[in-house]
Parts: sequence; C-alpha cells; structure tokens
Amino acid sequence: MQGKRGLIMGLANDRSLAWGIAKQLAEHGAELAFSYQGEALERRVRPLAEQLGQDFLIECDVADMAALDQAFATLKARWETIDFVVHAIGFSDKNELRGRYYDTSLDNFLMTMNISVYSFTAVAQRARAMMTPYDPETGKGGGSLLTLTYYGSEKVVPHYNVMGVAKSALDTSVKYLAMDLGPENIRVNAISAGPIKTLAASGIGDFRYILKWNELNSPLRRNVTIEDVGGAGLYLLSDLASGVTGEIHHVDAGYNVIGMKAEDAPDI
Ligand code: NAD
Repeated sequence: MQGKRGLIMGLANDRSLAWGIAKQLAEHGAELAFSYQGEALERRVRPLAEQLGQDFLIECDVADMAALDQAFATLKARWETIDFVVHAIGFSDKNELRGRYYDTSLDNFLMTMNISVYSFTAVAQRARAMMTPYDPETGKGGGSLLTLTYYGSEKVVPHYNVMGVAKSALDTSVKYLAMDLGPENIRVNAISAGPIKTLAASGIGDFRYILKWNELNSPLRRNVTIEDVGGAGLYLLSDLASGVTGEIHHVDAGYNVIGMKAEDAPDI
C-alpha cells in the first residue's frame, strides 16, 4: 500500500471493524485520513489515528450531503487524489433491532436506508471525483471502494430486522456501483463479516446468542476478529485484488456455507 492514500469512515473505537482494517493498511504503508461523526468521537479517534502515525481527521455525518461535500473538499485541500475509501458505517434505531421486522416504522426504515445504504453511493460519487483517471495503456489510475455488510442480508437472523433489509440493498449497491465504475478501474467490494462485539453490534437484540451460535456452528468453530477482517480489507484494497469487483467477500469463519447446526455443537 506504499504510496496509496485513503479515507477510513466509521472508526469509533479500538473494537471497530474500521480499526482492524486501518491497522493493516497503515502497517503496509498506506497514508490514512479518518472521518468521524461528532466531537465526542473525535476524542476517541484522534489517539487511535496517532497510534498509526496519522493526523488527518475530518468530521462528517453521512446523513448530511452538505457535510459529505465539505468532508471531501477538506480531503481535496490536502490531498490531490485518493486511492481508496473504507465505508464502515451503519445505523438504525436500536428499539427496532429487537422483536419483529414486521413492526418497522417508516421513519426508521428511511433513516436506516439513508445512513447504512445511500451513504455508500454518496461516498462513491465524491470519491470517484478524487481518483486518478484510468489510463488503459499503462493500467494506472482508478481506485478501490470497500463497505461492510452482514449475512443478515442473505438469510433471516433474529432481531437484525430492518438492518438486514438495508444490508441487502447495500450488497446490491456494491454490484451496481461495480458495473458503473468498472470502466474507470474503480473496484467496489464488500466484506460480509461474521458477528463481532462492537458498539454498533451492542444495539442488536440478543447479540450474545448470535455470537455463540456462530462460534459453535461455523466451519472454523470460532468467531472472527477485527484482525481477520483487516487482512481481507487489505487484500481487497490492494493491487492483489486487481481483478476483483462487485464481490461480497465473507469473512465469517465459513458460517455462510453451512445448512444445519453442527453435530458437535452443544445446545445453547
Ligand atoms: P462501530 O460502532 O465501531 O462502527 C459504526 C460506525 O458508524 C461508528 O463509527 C459510527 O460513528 C458510524 N456512524 C453511524 N452513523 C453515522 C453517521 N450518520 N455518519 C457518520 N458515521 C456514522 O461498529 P462496527 O461493528 O465496526 O460497524 C462498522 C460496519 O460493520 C457497519 O456497517 C456494520 O453494520 C458492519 N458489520 C458489523 C458486524 C459486527 O458484528 N460488528 C458484522 C458485519 C458487518
């Protein structure tokens, strides 16, 4: 990643999936900017960025298009171009991440879709404008966009509810964006991470049960870590994945391939 620059969106603390990815990128020489939502988070994000030798922080609430424009203008004022963006952002009212999907309200449906789905497309529009134009002769130019999704977009997971519907739309956005931006050598992918205890995950009802179920039933018989996610993030954002786009890459200890409870899994 030496010589590459990119924006990390969605770092909240040292348990964030964005932190797992940022650590690997920095270790491999990438230069990073971080966007955070609100002053309270800046106090958490700044020391983490400093740990990686980075000092470029930008405030941005992705529900606000003017704030997104401002964030990319700030980025452009310091860096002429960027090579990648990590979008590790999702949000829904936690009162609707318990009980049934059936009870979802219109207001929360729209807010969840706006912050967790549309924001990735809004980011893609602004990031594209900062990527070096692709030159097919030399193969240089373009870039890579990465978002984070979850298996609840493919199958019903208890309490994931409207977030599952949002992640399905996010997965499909990845594919449409990959097609639209492919001719410019901008690759668009998602990591579908297994359950990990983070701030966002703590809003999901009975998350401990989901964690335990995945640990007992996935082929690797464990849960994944932010380091597992970071390794895959590094691959997808680097030139090693130069032929990969539109991909929903599972980093879930293999959980998505199973069809039944493991024979050796105890009852929980
Ligand atoms: P996290 O709480 O560490 O990160 C979520 C981030 O979203 C926070 O930094 C928060 O500030 C940001 N955010 C929310 N609303 C925002 C807004 N309006 N503007 C800007 N930022 C906003 O939790 P995480 O689990 O690391 O979540 C990152 C991504 O990973 C999310 O998309 C989540 O759905 C996805 N994911 C998480 C898991 C898991 O089990 N933790 C599994 C699969 C996918």
